[in-house]
Amino acid sequence: MSYDNDNIFAKILRGEIPCEKLFEDDDTFVFMDIMPRADGHCLVIPKTPCRNMLDASPEQLTACLLTVQKMGHAVMAAFDAEGVTVQQFNETAGGQEVFHLHYHVLPRHADLKLRPPGTMADFGVLKEQADKIRAALA
Ligand code: 5GP
Repeated sequence: MSYDNDNIFAKILRGEIPCEKLFEDDDTFVFMDIMPRADGHCLVIPKTPCRNMLDASPEQLTACLLTVQKMGHAVMAAFDAEGVTVQQFNETAGGQEVFHLHYHVLPRHADLKLRPPGTMADFGVLKEQADKIRAALA
């Protein structure tokens, strides 16, 4: 399977599609998931192309996981969470829908289940939640 330069996250990285950006460094980029399964659900991606964990380089994996850890702390602080769920899917059979490596970072509370997938966020609410995370990162 090859990398498709026109996948939606490649377009976000090129600035062709808007997103609620939270953080970037030399190697990674973080933004809010548009269909959040928990308040503060965000996505960590490498800036360089790869489909998923299976074709990623050690450098891409390392950079992403360091940013995942950073975002885990930030979303926990922003939402007063008790834990964090990290999800990462590989190929269609593995549950992947967008074929640019990404890690889901979801702040969790013991008494709150994840919402079902596929519900579009209210963009005003998404921005408010992003503001909280950006403040926690500052
Ligand atoms: P996966 O490939 O791991 O199954 O999930 C892809 C994720 O990308 C989903 O959680 C979905 O809500 C999110 N997503 C899909 N399209 C967009 C988009 O255009 N913008 C943003 N911010 N997230 C998206």
